[in-house]
Amino acid sequence: MMARTHIAFAALMMVACSVGILQRMPQVHEVALAGAAGLLPDLDHPKSTFGRIVPYISIPIAKIFGHRGFTHSLLMVAVIIWLLLTYREEQKIPILPLVIGYLSHIIGDLLTPSGVPLLWPVRKKFSLNLFKADGWMEHLIYRGCWMGVGYFVWVALQRPGHELLHPAQVAIQQWLWQALSHSMIILVQWVRIMA
Ligand SMILES: [Zn+2]
Repeated sequence: MMARTHIAFAALMMVACSVGILQRMPQVHEVALAGAAGLLPDLDHPKSTFGRIVPYISIPIAKIFGHRGFTHSLLMVAVIIWLLLTYREEQKIPILPLVIGYLSHIIGDLLTPSGVPLLWPVRKKFSLNLFKADGWMEHLIYRGCWMGVGYFVWVALQRPGHELLHPAQVAIQQWLWQALSHSMIILVQWVRIMA
């Protein structure tokens, strides 16, 4: 999957988890963190977003393990969770967005033909082979992810405690209704003049 789709998919998973499971409004910094974590596994590729930022990390990983190696495995997810839990107390690290973002990347790559070595160090690659990276289907999924983010935010805004939106909705409806009736009057007058 392309970097932008990984970001969108990570954002969608974060927002869905926040609204659907935790029953709360997603925080902007959580969505941003999840999006960034959604690019982390490709640190094993020197041409990837993070790979270009820290080539002294990405080049050795790529040389030793290759692209889509251990950074795309469940073992790595477990190591990350363990590290985050270990240093959580001192650093106050938001664990959930990082884990969700990272995991979303592996799920995303799992859908493409190249697949991921989920059970690394077992080398077998798993793939659901649903769509080609950078193909029309991925472009559609990319847009769908952002629409999904919008949907979940909308759902969260409808919940009690977020009535802030209601006056705005009423105002927009009234404004649309006025605009419509105005144009009807103008149209009727125009038809009369023409006749
Ligand atoms: Zn990847």
